[in-house]
Amino acid sequence: TIGMVATDSDGNLAAGTSTNGAKFKIPGRIGDSPIPGAGAYVDNDIGGAAATGDGDIMLRFLPSFAAVEAMRRGAGPENAARIAIRKIANYYPDFMGAVIALAKSGQHGAACHGLKTFPYVVQDDTRKTCQIIVVNCDSNC
Ligand code: ASP
Repeated sequence: TIGMVATDSDGNLAAGTSTNGAKFKIPGRIGDSPIPGAGAYVDNDIGGAAATGDGDIMLRFLPSFAAVEAMRRGAGPENAARIAIRKIANYYPDFMGAVIALAKSGQHGAACHGLKTFPYVVQDDTRKTCQIIVVNCDSNC
């Protein structure tokens, strides 16, 4: 899954996902990516988030919505992503997934579980820069 959260020069936000779905998916499976709040979510006043991973587990927790709501309550984007990921890990310690989050301020962050690291890319068209950020994931070990 490719998940994206973007902001334009007026500060408007958008989020979306593009996916080929999970491996060995059954015909007709929808997964988490197209479900608002699961695959991606934005509140234009707060920020946006997008998720990837074990969609059949993750969609039960609406992790993108959870991250945006955590930012609404004052969490920074990295913490917000971590809150969303940890909520899932409490119930499914073996799940694998990641959430990226972008605050209205332009701050961004990510959290992940079940992997060693998770890379995400930050592109700033105004400065013509592109940066790969690698976060360390929570683990059960
Ligand atoms: N979340 C996707 C799915 O379960 C898979 C992925 O993110 O790679 O369909």
